[in-house]
Amino acid sequence: MEAFKEIKESLKKKGGNEKTFQMTLSEHEFIMTWTLNKLCNYRCDYCFLTDEFLSNEHPETGKYSHEYIADCFDRSAKNWLIILSGGEPFLYPDFVGLAETLTKNHHIVINSNLSMKSAFDFAERVNPEKVIFLNASMHMTELVKRKDGVGKYVEKFLYLQDKGFNIYLTYVAYPTLLNQIEKDVSFFKQQGIKKISVKYFHGMFDSKPYPLSYSMEEKEMISRNALNPVEADEYQEKPFFYGRQCAAGQKFFAMDMAGNLKRCTTLQKQYGNFFTGKFKFDKSLKPCPVPECLCAYEGFLLTNNKSSSAFSLWKEKQWEHYYAKKSE
Ligand code: SF4
Ligand code: SF4
Repeated sequence: MEAFKEIKESLKKKGGNEKTFQMTLSEHEFIMTWTLNKLCNYRCDYCFLTDEFLSNEHPETGKYSHEYIADCFDRSAKNWLIILSGGEPFLYPDFVGLAETLTKNHHIVINSNLSMKSAFDFAERVNPEKVIFLNASMHMTELVKRKDGVGKYVEKFLYLQDKGFNIYLTYVAYPTLLNQIEKDVSFFKQQGIKKISVKYFHGMFDSKPYPLSYSMEEKEMISRNALNPVEADEYQEKPFFYGRQCAAGQKFFAMDMAGNLKRCTTLQKQYGNFFTGKFKFDKSLKPCPVPECLCAYEGFLLTNNKSSSAFSLWKEKQWEHYYAKKSE
């Protein structure tokens, strides 16, 4: 896809993490971002999920066997990249078994806080070649509440890194942490952690909106410590893809715990249920019908520079309006 090529080139120019994107984007027919559970053992100050959401597991989580889920992917396409997020994915019932089963025929990405001991078992049983990357979010405000929280995080991280996983530490630049970020980054480097990325905080703090409220110096500091410089200076701006053709709905879907498919993280347009087999994908690229894409990664990776006809844009807006009303 054009957009993938563009981003690769842009990353290359800026010395970004081209390999990750290259592998992620050029080798997969379809991408699914799957929120597989709700439960989380952390309560990060900056989490956009509510305490209520994170406290109870979704009734559909773990309903289907690993084999059944893998079969749904196998039957629908040859080659999926499955992005696994929660909650905390390692709290999914026998998450390691699920990852092992899914990676027989597909590739995965995992977003985890790396708090669970089962990460060691994961390192033993899952083929690192099948894990495009493991985003190990380092939540300093939570780690310091736990006995040797930082030490245990580092131990698991290094174990996975030594096993050959493409793992990186992400650090949210929450305003209360700004004064210690560089010190922490240097500590983690000394421990042997190779890939570290500081990311902008998105949200309100002290009645001020972020990332808008960072000072120039703070932005520079974040940029210096971002693994991918493109992320710091481009992804964090409010991206605008309105009217552009987007592969979401054709090659990319957002799935909830029950298997319900939406066009992407932002949109409400539904495509059926992946686990019951009653779903339909778009046959062609459709325009993006909204002025704000909540996940810049998705927008940058899935859109091209072509505008759609006024009629197809109108149609997508109608669909979105219909499904947004329905989900109220
Ligand atoms: S670990 Fe992730 S899901 Fe859990 S509270 Fe923190 S930000 Fe939210
Ligand atoms: S909101 Fe983003 S991912 Fe969704 S259709 Fe628009 S550009 Fe694509």
